Amino acid sequence: MHYLHLRTTLRSAYYKTKILYSKLLNNIESISSSDRENFDKLLYCPELITLRDITDFQKHYNVVADKRLSVEKSLSDKYRNKPGWLFEGYCQCCEKNALFLADWQYSDGTAPNYRERLFCNHCGLNSRQRFILHYAKNILKGRNEIPKLFCYEQTTDFYRYLTKKMDNADVTGSEYLGTDKTSGEIINGIRCEDALGLSFENEAFDLIISNDVYEHVPDIMKALSEAYRCLKKNGMLIFSVPFFMNKKTTEQRALIDNKCKTVHLLSEQYHANPVSRKGSLVYYDFGWDILNYCKEAGFKDAYAIAYYNMLYGYIGNGMQFIFCAEKQ
Ligand SMILES: [Zn+2]
Repeated sequence: MHYLHLRTTLRSAYYKTKILYSKLLNNIESISSSDRENFDKLLYCPELITLRDITDFQKHYNVVADKRLSVEKSLSDKYRNKPGWLFEGYCQCCEKNALFLADWQYSDGTAPNYRERLFCNHCGLNSRQRFILHYAKNILKGRNEIPKLFCYEQTTDFYRYLTKKMDNADVTGSEYLGTDKTSGEIINGIRCEDALGLSFENEAFDLIISNDVYEHVPDIMKALSEAYRCLKKNGMLIFSVPFFMNKKTTEQRALIDNKCKTVHLLSEQYHANPVSRKGSLVYYDFGWDILNYCKEAGFKDAYAIAYYNMLYGYIGNGMQFIFCAEKQ
């Protein structure tokens, strides 16, 4: 039932997107070749910036943010009354020119939520998913052995992309299917894993990828320690979370008490979940101390990668982030 519902939802989302694309075909924000030649390093930032704390971040953000935010604002103003629009750009996952779909879904009302949107018309992945794949592909490039990779999802376009397009990787995916399921259990072809107690042996993977999962675990230290345990020596965890770039410390929104009851410390917030109609409760609003959490979990190094590139459809809030934690 669950999966039938999921399949129907995905199919209807697919057709809705197709219709929107066809409606918007005359409404393309073009990145002209002359713009590319007059390469503006702020908007088409060629390099990735490694940041280790909030001071690092503020120094860098103050230099780049004004221009980026003003361009983002002019786009928001231009398309305020439109259901959506298309960006002409280049998808680093598909390695070809692409149209990125922007609209107002999950928007705070002032600007579109570019991080969650900007779907590529070929691979169907949104901005943050395309970036994390782009980054992972570069890390895995040139390896002799077939890398073993784990990601905490299995019913998504992201997982399909990993298994079909990254043919030099051995990929394991899973979903969290509830407290009554055991990690490692396979139900209708879907592997169940609880991030707080993975079923894998120690040092099983070269790379673990997590897309907006850790804000939904009730115990972030346990989740990071489990990822650490399951990584090989020199292995790497790459993850994205909704990130509060101006917060030094993480705020806990909810916890599970010793009677296994959920206690809400702040107002309840849920995010969409492909295998749950109710969605997933948010336990954490992460700040810069997420990097300290990684080190406490055993990682020898942890840092944020800041990225921004209009051509590749990586925009929003003047700067976007993923996080990396390296095992010795
Ligand atoms: Zn693509």
